Amino acid sequence: MDKAVKPLFEQNPLVYPIVASSTFRLKSAEEGHQLSEGQPGYLYSRWSNPTVDSAAESIRQMEGAEGTLLLPSGMAAISTSIICLLKAGDHIVAPQPVYGGTHQALKTTFSKWGLEYTFVDGSSVEEFEKAIKENTKVLLGETPANPTMSILDLEAFGKLGSKRGLLTMVDSTFAGPYIQQPIKYGIDVVIHSCTKYIGGHSDLTAGALSFKSRKIYNQVYHEAKVLGFLALSPFDAFLIHRGMKTLGIRMERHSSNAMAIAEFLQSHPKVLKVHYSGLPSHPHYETAKKQMKHFGGMVSFEVTGGKEGGRKVVEGTKIFTLAVSLGGVESLIEHPATMTHTDTVMSREDKEASRITDNLIRLSVGLEDVDDLKADLESALDRV
Ligand SMILES: *Cc1c(COP(=O)(O)O)cnc(C)c1O
Repeated sequence: MDKAVKPLFEQNPLVYPIVASSTFRLKSAEEGHQLSEGQPGYLYSRWSNPTVDSAAESIRQMEGAEGTLLLPSGMAAISTSIICLLKAGDHIVAPQPVYGGTHQALKTTFSKWGLEYTFVDGSSVEEFEKAIKENTKVLLGETPANPTMSILDLEAFGKLGSKRGLLTMVDSTFAGPYIQQPIKYGIDVVIHSCTKYIGGHSDLTAGALSFKSRKIYNQVYHEAKVLGFLALSPFDAFLIHRGMKTLGIRMERHSSNAMAIAEFLQSHPKVLKVHYSGLPSHPHYETAKKQMKHFGGMVSFEVTGGKEGGRKVVEGTKIFTLAVSLGGVESLIEHPATMTHTDTVMSREDKEASRITDNLIRLSVGLEDVDDLKADLESALDRV
């Protein structure tokens, strides 16, 4: 997996070491000059670090990218791509629903800096096309989308971008790089919160940007290294690298557990609706089947009893832990209406447009025994 990364020592350990050094010994002033002029090698860890590079390389290979950059959070990855690829007066078409942080960043900081945005139904490529204006530079997609699991057709999205000469960026966090590789469909920039499936153990925060072309990679790299956005801790990079080694096998189990849970919920009398793209009843089932190797571990559902019903269920589980975030070994449960998509974070109209209802519950299905997980949900649903 790491043949492309240069060994650090003569002994060449199997597992890439944590290089916790902020700076690197130089053989000569000339070497320092060469490195600062862009010759490959290590000068200063805010620019690049061997452990961070080794982790980035494993993601790059899985994504089929020309380059991958790691950042200290998923939001840092999103912000960096926007800051480095857009300027004041440009317009971005963004999806609804979209990760809450992305929504807030566009509405507050980026609009303050003069970026224009339009939100459209994130599963409709036609809606993206209709929203394109003269100053549009970027089409931003998210699939599967948080928290409703709607799916964007990556092939059609990539084609729209190249037809109109626009950059396409896709937040692929909910799938992870093992089950979905957007670059295959012509997407220019792939975003991951490595905090989720890539890390996989709920013990780090990080983000990744993978690029279809070396040119865009270089542009973002040179700007981001100066801005200080690339300074991921080498220890967190080490954990990412370790996570990548088991990503495939974890995603298979996350997906099979999630499928069983989705089927169980679908036949439960207190469940009104299940959102999981692996169910043939999902409106984007065919698209999901085309572009995803498995359907992933995220399931959401609507329960009877409204907001109160939702609250009762999330407070009634024992194996599913009540917590935000996702993608780890342990199953998590959350109630968007009271926890992540509150009225302060998102207006009623935005929530309606995103189809985030008060009785929606989101599950990150972990790697536990699936019968235990079903029994846990069964007893929590009894409380409604
Ligand atoms: C968590 C998440 C992010 C943000 O990632 P952080 O690591 O929390 O900054 C962005 N997009 C999606 C879809 C996410 O789930």
